[in-house]
Amino acid sequence: MAARHPLPFRRALALCCALSLLPAPALPAQTVAPPQDVFGYKDFSAQAKIDQSFLTVPDAKLAGEELKILTAAPHVAGSKEDYETALYVAQKFKAAGLETTIVPYKVWLNLPVDIQITATSADGKTLMTGPTREHVDGDRYDNDPRIVMPFNGSSPSADITADVVYANYGRPEDFQKLAQMGIDVKGKIVLTRYGGNFRGVKVYIAQEKGAAGVLIYSDPQDDGYYRGDAYPNGPYRPATGVQRGSVQYMFKYPGDPTTPGFASTPDLPMSRRVPPDKAASQPTIPSNPLSYHDAAPILENLQGPTAPHEWQGALPFTYHVGGKGNVKVHMLLKQDYQYRLIWDVIGRIPGTEYPDEWVVAGNHRDAWTFGAVDPNSGTAAMLEAVHGIGALLKQGWKPKRTIIFASWDAEEEGLIGSTEWAEDNAPPLANAVAYFNTDVGVAGPSFDASAVPSLKQFVREVTKEVPSPKGGTVYEQWKASQAESESRRQASGSGEHTARPNAHVGNDVAVGDLGSGSDYTPFIQHLGVPSTDIGSSGPYGVYHSAFDNYQWFTMNADPTFVYEQQQARVFGLEVLHMADTDVLPYDYVTYGKEIEQYLDAAQKKASSAEVSLDFSAADAAAKRFTAAAAAVKQKQDKPGGNEASLNTALRATEGDLLSPQGLPNRPWFKHTIYAPGEYTGYAAVVIPGVNEAIDAKDAQRAQSQLTVLTAALNRAAATLESAAQ
Ligand SMILES: [Zn+2]
Repeated sequence: MAARHPLPFRRALALCCALSLLPAPALPAQTVAPPQDVFGYKDFSAQAKIDQSFLTVPDAKLAGEELKILTAAPHVAGSKEDYETALYVAQKFKAAGLETTIVPYKVWLNLPVDIQITATSADGKTLMTGPTREHVDGDRYDNDPRIVMPFNGSSPSADITADVVYANYGRPEDFQKLAQMGIDVKGKIVLTRYGGNFRGVKVYIAQEKGAAGVLIYSDPQDDGYYRGDAYPNGPYRPATGVQRGSVQYMFKYPGDPTTPGFASTPDLPMSRRVPPDKAASQPTIPSNPLSYHDAAPILENLQGPTAPHEWQGALPFTYHVGGKGNVKVHMLLKQDYQYRLIWDVIGRIPGTEYPDEWVVAGNHRDAWTFGAVDPNSGTAAMLEAVHGIGALLKQGWKPKRTIIFASWDAEEEGLIGSTEWAEDNAPPLANAVAYFNTDVGVAGPSFDASAVPSLKQFVREVTKEVPSPKGGTVYEQWKASQAESESRRQASGSGEHTARPNAHVGNDVAVGDLGSGSDYTPFIQHLGVPSTDIGSSGPYGVYHSAFDNYQWFTMNADPTFVYEQQQARVFGLEVLHMADTDVLPYDYVTYGKEIEQYLDAAQKKASSAEVSLDFSAADAAAKRFTAAAAAVKQKQDKPGGNEASLNTALRATEGDLLSPQGLPNRPWFKHTIYAPGEYTGYAAVVIPGVNEAIDAKDAQRAQSQLTVLTAALNRAAATLESAAQ
């Protein structure tokens, strides 16, 4: 998943106007000149030699072979084929010299037994029987009988027939618009299109409004022929392509729905589990995805008011909102819910100096179908990073800090493998110095990253050491492509496709904020482990369909696997730098400035919403935090003396930003600065307790959340002040 995961979808949107030409597969340079000075190192020259040695190992051709093996069969979480990929990854970890274990968890998962969606007109004429099997002429994978039929993870079973209402993207404002048009969704099947938010949010809002069920289809305007040629002629979604996906309410809590906050170990007594029908992360209304091939006959026959102009998609008729009883849809969903075993693969390299300071790097392995892009382009890159680090081990190198590579399972169903492992290891993870994620490793040639503010500069520095297949460094190409999309945005006079709506300090390359939709969520938002997420994006219209396969990948994303090699190098350097740095390279000055901007923005929003709040204590705490960070930065710049205690304080600072009670109504989310939005799902909401209370025009809650935030900022500032002494 993890369409912010890492928003493959959002990325596809962001790239919609870019020329989708792949650069000629250049032979990437093996190395570029290393920087002299890197934040966190007293003397970078020794590390530079290790880096250069590492960078020669990750291999494009091997990454391609690994990707082909990983994606040979569909491998949905809990399946036999999924277990086989676990064995394969474990064998690769072991070969590199990692202490490797396969860690099972027993989690509540559904798989579809039978899915039938039929549409009939008022006079009894059959308009559509689906879902239509995914197929295009020329694809070598789409007839595999093991491909799971299109369904939603976490949807209940159902046998319902109802009138249909079209609700655009299913955002709060879309439902508001329907209400203004006098259309009631109560008891109806809501037909929404993908985009604009996480699919689980569409179901969540529809459930709140009393809908009977939800269908979610992929409009060609959003990732199909409107964007460019459809597969196999291009990278975009063909008519029968369906986006599977989880509708779990992971903005409440991710992971196994029956074990919020603790691990689903195989021997956990049933009495400790929340009964599934009481689990707050489970929708109570059914939903299912559809292709536009199957959605079109429904949409075309809807009557009622003409849908607003912005709600019109790219299908060749005028969209109406329906609700007039002239189209009935029957949803028959038979789900097989069971406690199923899943398998994380964990590979460890013990640290020599600071064994308790873990550096964790992870990628999920399970896929809705073949998972060539999502997620195994990331797995192949991770395996080549492990290959490179294994080569260093064989030369006698050992890391100062403990390195852990993780291949997560059941990410697609709700970040389950990573969440269960993080909950299982919460006490030691309180000392973990970083979590590095990659999910969609390679969908195309455009490097992109998100990070907690303290690690934004860290990511930029790593990319300055890695050559780009396009020439120069990854950093230079990243910067150039951002400048290009910015000028395109300005030329079009539209902010519609900007990927980075949030605060940004300075003029350097913008690094995004961590929302949700991938496996960094339990680390940063539940446990306060500083995290990053990297990927290389491009036009990608086959997200979560049968066509996300090796053939699509080699035709569209990375035919010579040079971007796989690039991602392996960036991912590996993140790990190496964090494992061996003298002083933890957390930039809390940037963090403080971003928090000050978040407070300014919230204050403006509160006053325009006429929510009366006192921001003075929070403002003062944020300024105190930034000032203390500046003093600590001087010590970080000139380390000498006791780095161990400085590092302990630096790490504790992120932990201070957690609030023990968590967010209102979703206590699993403990971070006071970042959370996935309750009504956006993938996108980060900053200072979420405060902003969501303002959005709800709840002044009392907003003020008490400001108090919680102020306390967290003062705790963190005090820790930084003591470190600066
Ligand atoms: Zn994924």
